[in-house]
Amino acid sequence: MSFTLDSLLIEGTKVLSEAGVEEASLDARYLLFEAFHTDLTHFILDRFNAISEDELILNRIDQYRSMIEKRSQRIPLQQITGSREFMGLEFYVNEHVLIPRQDTETLVELILKDFKGSKPVVLDMCTGSGCIAISLTKLGLFECVTGVDISKEALSVARRNVEALLGTGGITLIESDLFEAIGPGQKFDVIVSNPPYIPTEIIKGLQPEVRDFEPMLALDGREDGLFFYRQLVLDGRRFLNPGGSVYFEIGYDQAEAVSGLFIDAGFAEIRVVKDAAGLDRVVCAVLK
Ligand code: GLN
Repeated sequence: MSFTLDSLLIEGTKVLSEAGVEEASLDARYLLFEAFHTDLTHFILDRFNAISEDELILNRIDQYRSMIEKRSQRIPLQQITGSREFMGLEFYVNEHVLIPRQDTETLVELILKDFKGSKPVVLDMCTGSGCIAISLTKLGLFECVTGVDISKEALSVARRNVEALLGTGGITLIESDLFEAIGPGQKFDVIVSNPPYIPTEIIKGLQPEVRDFEPMLALDGREDGLFFYRQLVLDGRRFLNPGGSVYFEIGYDQAEAVSGLFIDAGFAEIRVVKDAAGLDRVVCAVLK
């Protein structure tokens, strides 16, 4: 029997929608393009042509079907393709890091805007894939950015992204449980973090892609979701230069609680910034 790209797409879409994947046809199309090294323009032109069944094509069909099979187990698309775009840059991702979210671009864009033309010394706490640290360095031309993570596996993903996007020596990566391994004399102008912030109870109800395949270590903000903000606000003070700032990504309903933590710790100029969907997404403050 002969195949067309269109028939393969229909086949993949059916498998994914039966598995309950929300955007079945979009995801199948994405995986088809990936397996066939093609794009929308060529797909539109070629979709109804019978495809030759030489070895190369048969391999691509196999690869496509195996990616569809993985996606039908609800493995996130980006873990299957190994990549995710963030701030216009291509990041390598795997199961050891949170897949960069568009929401987090709000955090990066705000820092780029606030520090336009200056070169703050930055600490990115819980760096994961390195997407925040790397995009600040690349797009803000910041010269002194350090990324910290507790996970060795996450740090090797970050290292790979640093090498691909910045070359060696682009940023400093440190394995540390929060500030534990940071030298007491180290001072920063900005501490930025997208820490785990989902309350443990809520995690059970998340979609399987997140709940079953993204690292729990990057999601679980303990009982009330605020564990890491508390630690970072309290301990972070010692690592900030006078007038230094802290920028947090937050869950949509955490602005008030996190602002309260800043106030209690003596921070000022607290701002809450919304994401593209109009939800509270960033809280930042200055140490007076
Ligand atoms: N925004 C992520 C999500 O909703 C959570 C990120 C985090 O815990 N830092 O899945």
